[in-house]
Amino acid sequence: MNKKIGKALVVGAGISGIRSALDLAETGYSVTLIDRSPHLGGVLSQLDYQFPTDRCGMCKMLPLVNRDASSQYCLRKGLFHENIEILLSTEMNSLEGEPGHFQVKLKQKPTWIDPELCNGCGLCTEVCPVEVPDEFNAGLNHRKAIYLPVPHAIPNPYVIDFTACTRCGECEKICPTQAIGISQQERKKFKILVVDDELIVRDSLKEWLEEEGFSVDMAESGQEALDKLSANSYHLMLTDIKMP
Ligand code: SF4
Ligand code: SF4
Repeated sequence: MNKKIGKALVVGAGISGIRSALDLAETGYSVTLIDRSPHLGGVLSQLDYQFPTDRCGMCKMLPLVNRDASSQYCLRKGLFHENIEILLSTEMNSLEGEPGHFQVKLKQKPTWIDPELCNGCGLCTEVCPVEVPDEFNAGLNHRKAIYLPVPHAIPNPYVIDFTACTRCGECEKICPTQAIGISQQERKKFKILVVDDELIVRDSLKEWLEEEGFSVDMAESGQEALDKLSANSYHLMLTDIKMP
Protein backbone atom coordinates (compact mmCIF):
# COMPACT_ATOMS: atom_id res chain seq x y z
CA MET A 1 0.00 0.00 0.00
CA ASN A 2 1.55 3.32 -1.04
CA LYS A 3 -0.83 5.77 0.62
CA LYS A 4 0.41 6.50 4.13
CA ILE A 5 -2.18 7.41 6.77
CA GLY A 6 0.08 8.34 9.68
CA LYS A 7 3.34 7.57 11.42
CA ALA A 8 3.95 4.89 14.02
CA LEU A 9 6.97 3.93 16.09
CA VAL A 10 7.43 0.30 17.12
CA VAL A 11 9.97 -0.25 19.88
CA GLY A 12 11.63 -3.66 19.84
CA ALA A 13 12.25 -5.70 16.70
CA GLY A 14 11.56 -9.15 18.09
CA ILE A 15 8.66 -11.26 16.87
CA SER A 16 5.98 -8.99 18.39
CA GLY A 17 7.58 -5.83 17.08
CA ILE A 18 8.02 -7.25 13.58
CA ARG A 19 4.42 -8.50 13.49
CA SER A 20 3.12 -5.12 14.73
CA ALA A 21 5.27 -3.23 12.22
CA LEU A 22 4.05 -5.40 9.36
CA ASP A 23 0.38 -5.00 10.35
CA LEU A 24 0.70 -1.23 10.70
CA ALA A 25 2.63 -0.97 7.43
CA GLU A 26 0.02 -3.03 5.59
CA THR A 27 -2.69 -0.78 7.00
CA GLY A 28 -0.89 2.20 5.50
CA TYR A 29 1.10 3.61 8.40
CA SER A 30 4.63 4.80 7.88
CA VAL A 31 6.41 2.71 10.51
CA THR A 32 9.75 3.21 12.20
CA LEU A 33 10.90 -0.03 13.81
CA ILE A 34 13.72 0.34 16.32
CA ASP A 35 15.78 -2.07 18.38
CA ARG A 36 18.58 -1.42 20.82
CA SER A 37 20.49 -4.44 19.52
CA PRO A 38 22.36 -4.40 16.20
CA HIS A 39 20.08 -7.03 14.63
CA LEU A 40 16.46 -7.89 13.95
CA GLY A 41 14.58 -10.85 15.32
CA GLY A 42 15.25 -10.82 19.07
CA VAL A 43 15.19 -14.29 20.61
CA LEU A 44 13.61 -15.64 17.41
CA SER A 45 16.96 -15.26 15.69
CA GLN A 46 18.51 -17.72 18.17
CA LEU A 47 15.78 -20.31 17.59
CA ASP A 48 16.08 -20.41 13.84
CA TYR A 49 17.68 -23.86 13.38
CA GLN A 50 15.40 -26.80 14.17
CA PHE A 51 16.64 -30.10 15.56
CA PRO A 52 17.39 -32.63 14.12
CA THR A 53 17.40 -31.43 10.50
CA ASP A 54 18.90 -27.95 11.03
CA ARG A 55 16.19 -26.61 8.75
CA CYS A 56 14.96 -23.13 9.43
CA GLY A 57 11.32 -22.85 10.21
CA MET A 58 10.55 -20.81 13.30
CA CYS A 59 9.23 -18.04 11.09
CA LYS A 60 6.72 -20.44 9.55
CA MET A 61 5.60 -21.83 12.92
CA LEU A 62 4.99 -18.36 14.31
CA PRO A 63 2.21 -15.97 13.33
CA LEU A 64 4.48 -13.79 11.21
CA VAL A 65 3.76 -15.21 7.82
CA ASN A 66 1.33 -16.86 5.47
CA ARG A 67 2.93 -20.24 6.26
CA ASP A 68 3.93 -20.66 2.64
CA ALA A 69 6.66 -19.45 0.31
CA SER A 70 5.22 -15.95 0.19
CA SER A 71 6.36 -15.19 3.74
CA GLN A 72 6.37 -11.54 4.63
CA TYR A 73 9.29 -12.06 6.96
CA CYS A 74 12.18 -14.47 7.08
CA LEU A 75 15.47 -14.02 8.93
CA ARG A 76 17.35 -15.06 5.80
CA LYS A 77 15.35 -12.91 3.41
CA GLY A 78 15.12 -9.90 5.68
CA LEU A 79 12.31 -7.52 6.38
CA PHE A 80 11.70 -5.21 3.47
CA HIS A 81 8.52 -3.19 3.30
CA GLU A 82 8.09 0.16 1.61
CA ASN A 83 6.34 1.53 4.71
CA ILE A 84 8.89 0.27 7.26
CA GLU A 85 12.09 2.05 8.22
CA ILE A 86 14.41 -0.07 10.39
CA LEU A 87 16.80 1.59 12.84
CA LEU A 88 19.10 -0.82 14.69
CA SER A 89 21.31 -0.01 17.71
CA THR A 90 18.69 2.63 18.48
CA GLU A 91 16.91 3.55 21.70
CA MET A 92 14.15 5.97 22.60
CA ASN A 93 15.65 8.98 24.34
CA SER A 94 12.48 10.88 25.24
CA LEU A 95 8.74 10.74 24.68
CA GLU A 96 6.39 13.72 24.86
CA GLY A 97 2.83 14.49 23.82
CA GLU A 98 -0.38 12.53 23.97
CA PRO A 99 -2.09 9.69 22.08
CA GLY A 100 -2.29 10.63 18.44
CA HIS A 101 0.40 13.28 18.70
CA PHE A 102 3.59 11.93 20.26
CA GLN A 103 7.01 13.41 19.79
CA VAL A 104 9.91 11.03 20.21
CA LYS A 105 13.65 11.55 20.29
CA LEU A 106 15.75 8.58 19.22
CA LYS A 107 19.39 7.90 19.92
CA GLN A 108 21.37 5.65 17.60
CA LYS A 109 24.67 4.22 18.80
CA PRO A 110 27.49 4.60 16.27
CA THR A 111 28.65 1.25 14.93
CA TRP A 112 31.81 2.73 13.35
CA ILE A 113 31.28 0.43 10.38
CA ASP A 114 29.62 1.89 7.30
CA PRO A 115 27.00 -0.67 6.19
CA GLU A 116 27.00 0.85 2.69
CA LEU A 117 30.73 0.07 2.30
CA CYS A 118 30.92 -3.26 4.14
CA ASN A 119 30.84 -6.17 1.68
CA GLY A 120 30.73 -8.87 4.36
CA CYS A 121 34.14 -10.36 3.46
CA GLY A 122 34.90 -11.16 7.12
CA LEU A 123 38.62 -10.26 6.93
CA CYS A 124 38.22 -7.97 9.95
CA THR A 125 36.98 -10.85 12.09
CA GLU A 126 39.90 -13.04 11.01
CA VAL A 127 42.54 -10.54 12.15
CA CYS A 128 40.83 -9.35 15.33
CA PRO A 129 42.92 -10.64 18.28
CA VAL A 130 40.14 -10.34 20.88
CA GLU A 131 37.86 -13.27 21.73
CA VAL A 132 34.88 -13.13 24.10
CA PRO A 133 31.98 -15.49 24.85
CA ASP A 134 29.37 -15.45 22.06
CA GLU A 135 25.95 -14.36 23.37
CA PHE A 136 24.26 -15.74 20.25
CA ASN A 137 25.27 -19.27 21.28
CA ALA A 138 24.66 -18.61 24.99
CA GLY A 139 28.40 -18.40 25.64
CA LEU A 140 29.10 -21.95 24.38
CA ASN A 141 31.68 -20.67 21.90
CA HIS A 142 33.66 -17.49 21.36
CA ARG A 143 33.36 -14.62 18.94
CA LYS A 144 35.69 -11.77 18.03
CA ALA A 145 35.30 -8.14 19.11
CA ILE A 146 34.24 -7.35 15.53
CA TYR A 147 31.59 -9.82 14.48
CA LEU A 148 28.23 -10.67 12.97
CA PRO A 149 25.70 -10.66 15.81
CA VAL A 150 23.41 -13.14 14.01
CA PRO A 151 25.18 -15.14 11.31
CA HIS A 152 22.12 -15.67 9.09
CA ALA A 153 20.04 -12.50 9.54
CA ILE A 154 19.34 -9.82 6.93
CA PRO A 155 20.12 -6.95 7.23
CA ASN A 156 23.31 -8.20 8.82
CA PRO A 157 25.91 -5.52 9.43
CA TYR A 158 29.22 -6.32 11.10
CA VAL A 159 29.49 -4.57 14.47
CA ILE A 160 32.23 -3.79 16.97
CA ASP A 161 31.80 -4.66 20.63
CA PHE A 162 33.48 -1.67 22.22
CA THR A 163 33.39 -3.20 25.68
CA ALA A 164 35.88 -5.78 24.37
CA CYS A 165 37.69 -3.92 21.56
CA THR A 166 41.24 -2.83 22.43
CA ARG A 167 41.37 -0.25 19.58
CA CYS A 168 44.37 -2.07 18.10
CA GLY A 169 43.29 -0.96 14.62
CA GLU A 170 44.02 -4.29 12.88
CA CYS A 171 40.50 -4.57 11.45
CA GLU A 172 40.66 -1.03 10.09
CA LYS A 173 44.00 -1.74 8.38
CA ILE A 174 42.83 -4.88 6.59
CA CYS A 175 39.33 -3.76 5.56
CA PRO A 176 39.40 -3.62 1.73
CA THR A 177 36.59 -1.08 1.44
CA GLN A 178 37.56 1.36 4.24
CA ALA A 179 34.24 0.60 5.90
CA ILE A 180 35.67 0.83 9.43
CA GLY A 181 36.27 4.25 10.98
CA ILE A 182 37.64 3.67 14.48
CA SER A 183 40.50 6.18 14.30
CA GLN A 184 38.20 8.81 12.81
CA GLN A 185 35.75 8.30 15.65
CA GLU A 186 38.56 8.36 18.24
CA ARG A 187 39.63 11.73 16.84
CA LYS A 188 36.15 13.15 17.44
CA LYS A 189 36.65 12.52 21.15
CA PHE A 190 39.99 14.39 21.11
CA LYS A 191 39.16 17.96 22.18
CA ILE A 192 41.47 20.83 21.26
CA LEU A 193 41.29 24.40 22.56
CA VAL A 194 42.59 27.00 20.10
CA VAL A 195 43.56 30.31 21.77
CA ASP A 196 44.42 33.30 19.60
CA ASP A 197 43.31 36.93 19.43
CA GLU A 198 43.45 36.87 15.60
CA LEU A 199 40.09 35.73 14.23
CA ILE A 200 41.60 34.53 10.96
CA VAL A 201 44.11 32.33 12.82
CA ARG A 202 41.42 30.85 15.06
CA ASP A 203 39.07 30.17 12.15
CA SER A 204 41.78 28.65 9.96
CA LEU A 205 43.03 26.33 12.70
CA LYS A 206 39.48 25.30 13.57
CA GLU A 207 38.68 24.53 9.94
CA TRP A 208 41.85 22.46 9.38
CA LEU A 209 41.54 20.54 12.62
CA GLU A 210 37.84 19.80 12.13
CA GLU A 211 38.55 18.58 8.60
CA GLU A 212 40.93 16.07 10.22
CA GLY A 213 38.13 14.93 12.52
CA PHE A 214 39.08 16.64 15.82
CA SER A 215 36.66 18.51 18.11
CA VAL A 216 37.70 22.15 18.39
CA ASP A 217 36.80 24.92 20.81
CA MET A 218 38.11 28.50 20.57
CA ALA A 219 39.03 31.38 22.89
CA GLU A 220 40.12 34.88 21.87
CA SER A 221 41.85 35.96 25.10
CA GLY A 222 43.82 34.53 27.99
CA GLN A 223 40.90 35.06 30.37
CA GLU A 224 38.43 33.32 28.06
CA ALA A 225 40.87 30.43 27.72
CA LEU A 226 41.16 30.14 31.52
CA ASP A 227 37.35 30.18 31.84
CA LYS A 228 37.01 27.42 29.25
CA LEU A 229 39.77 25.36 30.83
CA SER A 230 38.05 25.48 34.21
CA ALA A 231 34.66 24.54 32.72
CA ASN A 232 35.79 21.84 30.25
CA SER A 233 38.52 19.31 29.81
CA TYR A 234 40.73 19.38 26.72
CA HIS A 235 43.34 16.99 25.44
CA LEU A 236 45.42 19.74 23.84
CA MET A 237 45.65 23.54 23.81
CA LEU A 238 47.17 25.47 20.92
CA THR A 239 47.87 29.03 22.04
CA ASP A 240 49.38 32.24 20.80
CA ILE A 241 52.12 33.54 23.12
CA LYS A 242 51.41 37.26 22.94
CA MET A 243 47.83 37.61 24.10
CA PRO A 244 45.65 40.48 25.35
S1 SF4 B 1 36.76 -6.26 6.49
FE1 SF4 B 1 35.51 -4.43 6.03
S2 SF4 B 1 34.26 -5.04 4.27
FE2 SF4 B 1 35.06 -6.94 5.19
S3 SF4 B 1 33.44 -7.59 6.65
FE3 SF4 B 1 34.91 -6.35 7.80
S4 SF4 B 1 34.04 -4.27 7.74
FE4 SF4 B 1 33.04 -5.43 6.12
S1 SF4 C 1 40.28 -2.50 16.71
FE1 SF4 C 1 38.95 -3.73 18.06
S2 SF4 C 1 37.58 -4.82 16.69
FE2 SF4 C 1 39.30 -4.08 15.44
S3 SF4 C 1 40.78 -5.78 15.40
FE3 SF4 C 1 41.36 -4.47 17.12
S4 SF4 C 1 40.30 -5.34 18.90
FE4 SF4 C 1 39.32 -6.19 17.08
